[in-house]
Amino acid sequence: MALEQLKKEMIYYGNLLIEKGLVTGTGGNISVRVPGKDAFLITPSGIPYPEIKLEDIVMMDFDGNKLSGERNPSIERNMHRSIFIARPDVNAIIHTHAIYASAIAATRQDFPPILDAFVAVFGGGLKTAKYASIGTEDLANNVVEALGQRNGVLLANHGALCTGSNLAQAFDNNEFLEASAMTYIFSHLVGKPVVLDQETVEKEAKDLAVRYGQGAKE
Ligand code: 13P
Ligand code: ZN
Repeated sequence: MALEQLKKEMIYYGNLLIEKGLVTGTGGNISVRVPGKDAFLITPSGIPYPEIKLEDIVMMDFDGNKLSGERNPSIERNMHRSIFIARPDVNAIIHTHAIYASAIAATRQDFPPILDAFVAVFGGGLKTAKYASIGTEDLANNVVEALGQRNGVLLANHGALCTGSNLAQAFDNNEFLEASAMTYIFSHLVGKPVVLDQETVEKEAKDLAVRYGQGAKE
């Protein structure tokens, strides 16, 4: 996909993050791997999404060098870079400050598997990365560790992050994580949410992958 098309998609999803209430102001950031090149594109630091133009998006290599763009890249560039290095299957990363996911992250607890659909999407519960200051190498390392092989992670006292094989998937995962976080928090008002046991988690994750959707075999 042409660079310009990827940049347009990043701008589109940035504005969608605002529209869907997953961030406010200049919170969060977006990156995407550049096909056929050892590089990724990342949103600029501290520019409101509706103001980001194609030329504001920065291209970086995996050693942390800026390859193109006049703007300062996102303060979380090392977090994005480290995830791309650790996870060759990941082509897109979106970090948000979504309200309900951040509420769980503020407790520094992990997000347990309490919903079948959550298990189908994420393969189980999600971890909360150990606290480290915004934009630090420590935060990057903690997030890579807590993300593991999943496509979502919470950042202690900060927010959420989801990965995907493309931007649409990274966005959908974030939207779904936030909806699930809302359900998890509300379930505490009704009673005590029941965490699915490991056996059920494994069964559901495997089963739904073949029983659900247009790829399902009868
Ligand atoms: P940037 O504007 O530098 O991407 O920072 C926003 C943010 O969410 C930091 O964690
Ligand atoms: Zn942030």
